[in-house]
Amino acid sequence: MKKTKEPNQKKIQALVRELLAELGEDPDREGLLKTPERVAKSLAFLTRGYRQNIKSVVNGAYFESGTNHMVILKDIELYSLCEHHMLPFFGKAAIGYIANGKVLGVSKLARIVDMYARRLQIQERMTEEIASAVMAETGAEGVGVVINARHLCMSMRGVEKQNSVMTTSAVLGSFRNDAKVREEFLSLVK
Ligand code: ZN
Repeated sequence: MKKTKEPNQKKIQALVRELLAELGEDPDREGLLKTPERVAKSLAFLTRGYRQNIKSVVNGAYFESGTNHMVILKDIELYSLCEHHMLPFFGKAAIGYIANGKVLGVSKLARIVDMYARRLQIQERMTEEIASAVMAETGAEGVGVVINARHLCMSMRGVEKQNSVMTTSAVLGSFRNDAKVREEFLSLVK
């Protein structure tokens, strides 16, 4: 499944051109002439997470930490594409963890979110993937991730629930086993 090679731009351009024609458009009209090229470029960007890996994203940016307090980063913006419709979903993530002597640079948490968001996703899986990655990279004693996101596949089509926001959470280690820790996290990210 994992494709580390850059997608073939020419191939995607040809497919987009075909798609436009099939949808009833004229791919040769002025406004659409460069659309296949733009779509191909934008899709490569929006799926670049497939071509990243956790080692290169984190890049050894750890710091020693003597105390085992809860570290929380909130309001991490995320933009992803749902794998069912390839339509955007977007919102904010909050990550908390209790370090075990090792903390990650703050920007790295945001980059981990980005790496998993820039793929075709479902929100539930993405939430778990981020939690597991933070756990594995930091060796934390516990990790919690909460994501609130709005799905355009819900707002624009079908049920047209314009304003519904989906919330998902994943808790690992002490965040899962210790109700007090979990409550502290959930109250801090509210
Ligand atoms: Zn969808």
